Amino acid sequence: MPNLPFLSLDFQHRLIERDLKSAFSQALKKGNFILGDQVNLFEREFANYHESKYCVGVGNGHDALLIALKTLGVGAGDEVIVPSHTCQATWLAVMNAGAKPVAAEVDPATYTIGVKQIEDQISKRTRAIIPVHLYGYPCEMDKIMAIAKKHHLLVVEDNAQAHGAIFKNRMTGRWGTINATSFYPTKNLGALGDGGAILTNDKKLGDLANTFRNYGSNKKGVHSTQGFNSRLDEIQAAVLRIKLKKLNEWNEMRTRNAELYFDELNNVGDLRLPPQATDIARPVFHLFVIQTAHREKLKKFLSKNGLGTSVHYPIPVHLQPAYSHLSYKKGSLPIAEGLAKTVLSLPIYPGLKKGQIETICEAIKSFF
Ligand SMILES: *Cc1c(COP(=O)(O)O)cnc(C)c1O
Repeated sequence: MPNLPFLSLDFQHRLIERDLKSAFSQALKKGNFILGDQVNLFEREFANYHESKYCVGVGNGHDALLIALKTLGVGAGDEVIVPSHTCQATWLAVMNAGAKPVAAEVDPATYTIGVKQIEDQISKRTRAIIPVHLYGYPCEMDKIMAIAKKHHLLVVEDNAQAHGAIFKNRMTGRWGTINATSFYPTKNLGALGDGGAILTNDKKLGDLANTFRNYGSNKKGVHSTQGFNSRLDEIQAAVLRIKLKKLNEWNEMRTRNAELYFDELNNVGDLRLPPQATDIARPVFHLFVIQTAHREKLKKFLSKNGLGTSVHYPIPVHLQPAYSHLSYKKGSLPIAEGLAKTVLSLPIYPGLKKGQIETICEAIKSFF
């Protein structure tokens, strides 16, 4: 029987082990662990990768979103439109900024925030929209930016799951006013611990984000604003520099894995497959998420056959106990609630072999 985990980073890390170890020993020798050369260099390289002007490395993806919102002046009394179906960090950052998340339902075919649904949620208090390129699939950024312009709203992309995705010849993470991402170890570009970054083309916003991450100070001893302590550290930055060089190659491996699934799982049972690339949208398959009414049984069946899967996410954000004060009732966001019951993530990581994907697909076919 196979023993195939849902996720493994072994392949990535074996390939770059020597470079990683050499980066660790250089960091030890240098002895400067916070806001040094490696962070500066990574910030420049990550900005260049996106053809963006400014990058600010921060402690994690949640803080990247939080600092992006604070930098824009979003806070108490403001509403921020967020997708109904996302990682809960998207909503939490809005609340930690003092603002109120307002959910717009996602399109169940692409898993991303619906454009019409955004417009329906705009009120006098709306200040910003956070589109999330969920599972690596880009949102319709042209239309979202047009709505934002029409209603004088700010846009913060949550690009945590879509490093390297492209929409209309422009990378995700460089469409919005200011954008946030995470380098949580399992992301397409992942650190060996926590990490995150903010991207923007606006120098003022870049400088302010820079100040916010470091106790509200960008001049030693002077604190111009009430900030946070959320800095990307030197060792993580060194790791990310090594991995950034591999990102496109690893994204291509994910895409080839996805193509195998699309071929094998076409017309199997009641499966609904994730959206494929189009002329304008090039996803990076952070996850490969199928939908089936038999999710629990299928998950159990695969597990019994030694095949790991996962669910992103089993409880919709609005029904989490922590967010009950937002007063969303069961049934209020039916698409998000439906997805929470039907989505199943299959292994997709770089290094997964063709034969392993075939084994997973055979098992799924035999289940149905
Ligand atoms: C991972 C993730 C985050 C949060 O990142 P952390 O680094 O864990 O704080 C935010 N949004 C989305 C969509 C994510 O997938």
